[in-house]
Amino acid sequence: MSKVARIPGYQSKNPKQNRGIIGDREIRFKCSLQNVILDVLRGRPGWTEVPGPNSQVPAAQQGTRPSNQQTSGLTQTGNQSRPSDGDWDFYWCDREWLHQNYDTMFLHEHQKILHFRNHYELTRKNLMVKNLKRLRKQTEREQGKTEAQSFDFYPTTYELPSEYHIFVEEFKKNLGIIWIMKPAAKSQGKGIFLFRRLKDITDWKKGEYQPLSDQTRDVPETYVVQRYIENPLLIGGRKFDVRVYVLVCSYNPLKVWLYRGGFARFSNTRFSLDSIEDTYVHLTNVAVQKNAPDYDPEKGCKWSTQQLRKYLAAKHGVDKVQKMFKAIDNIIIKSLQSVQKIIINDKHCFEMYGYDVLLDDDLKPWLIEINASPSLTASGKEDYDLKFGLISDLLNVLDLENRLTGKEKRIGGWDLLWDDGPIVADDNMDCTPANGAAVSTPNSYLGCFNDRKKQLREIYLTAQSVKKS
Ligand code: ADP
Repeated sequence: MSKVARIPGYQSKNPKQNRGIIGDREIRFKCSLQNVILDVLRGRPGWTEVPGPNSQVPAAQQGTRPSNQQTSGLTQTGNQSRPSDGDWDFYWCDREWLHQNYDTMFLHEHQKILHFRNHYELTRKNLMVKNLKRLRKQTEREQGKTEAQSFDFYPTTYELPSEYHIFVEEFKKNLGIIWIMKPAAKSQGKGIFLFRRLKDITDWKKGEYQPLSDQTRDVPETYVVQRYIENPLLIGGRKFDVRVYVLVCSYNPLKVWLYRGGFARFSNTRFSLDSIEDTYVHLTNVAVQKNAPDYDPEKGCKWSTQQLRKYLAAKHGVDKVQKMFKAIDNIIIKSLQSVQKIIINDKHCFEMYGYDVLLDDDLKPWLIEINASPSLTASGKEDYDLKFGLISDLLNVLDLENRLTGKEKRIGGWDLLWDDGPIVADDNMDCTPANGAAVSTPNSYLGCFNDRKKQLREIYLTAQSVKKS
């Protein structure tokens, strides 16, 4: 029998404080991915792996099953019986698995699983915009035009083919501008192209760009056509976008954490509007850029968000940069609110989103896309460290070990941005403070110093003494 690691403060005598819910035993995890997340889970004290669908752990090496373990949970997929399916506490599953199993599974009190059932309401490009447009309209009706302007952060977008005629009207009003076509449900830059003339998409209309989304049904793939941001902020002549990590632990009430770290992804080729067919110029996805002929895998094409924040503050001034980061907070909260009533809220579920934000040359952030499965594959040492800290701290926030008090506003690199309302920073201090600004500062530190290990040591000590008293 393997030794069960004990974690300090593991189970409180006060059942109300037992938010981690797991009893005094090891935590059993399953994981569908083979990248940084698996390293984090395997290295976490007191956690042990049980085989998932892609797991390489042979059944004989599974963690010891505690004697009080209950089975049941999900037991069937089609005709396949999977007796171990109720034996996990934490499952980093892929979206496909969740779609296939969620409706037929029963989750125990202690179980935590990645993804909300209908996460695609926010992560499919067409649905994200549809939900944002709806909340914007509602806001305009109820609170007026000025308040509705706080939704001016996504480029004008239409769904094709369903909104083709409305798009054509808009197109004719703005002749000469550039549009971008994107398959609604694809990622990594696949199927994307830019165009200026309506004629350029008649091919798409005719069927050239209409691969069937589902081979069994004769339905054209849904695209979005979106106004192309023609004036991106350039650094060294290159376009970039910013990856922001957001953790949602609950939609009702809405509870949102924002990670300090992240990165800017640069295109490899100098920006120009002369060559709109060149994806290496216009698409900043790493998946696209790594195929560029002069791509340097050592250098990659990334800056940390911290590096970016410092650079921007030095170049454009602290106040402007502060305003820009506040606008990113607004994007995060408004987008989540736009699906708050639609997402099937389940206390077992959590989601770590990867927001893609593009800055224009006036430092206005534009929401490009929200990913439910942001890449956790590391492109280098720095990227590995970022993702390792990100996931470790995500587990610290979920706190299955029940080591914290539940009242923390910061856990490692994650800051609590929203808990049924905005969270105000304790210290009223920003890493790039605007002189004399005595307004209450949001608890938002994107791109700020991330002394996560030191901070964790402090909050665990504090939590221990709070729990003892
Ligand atoms: P995917 O899911 O395939 O990555 P995205 O919507 O994220 O699709 O777009 C891929 C890239 O294309 C973005 O990272 C960005 O560089 C660029 N891009 C997408 N939409 C726009 C836009 N409206 N304006 C300018 N650039 C855009």
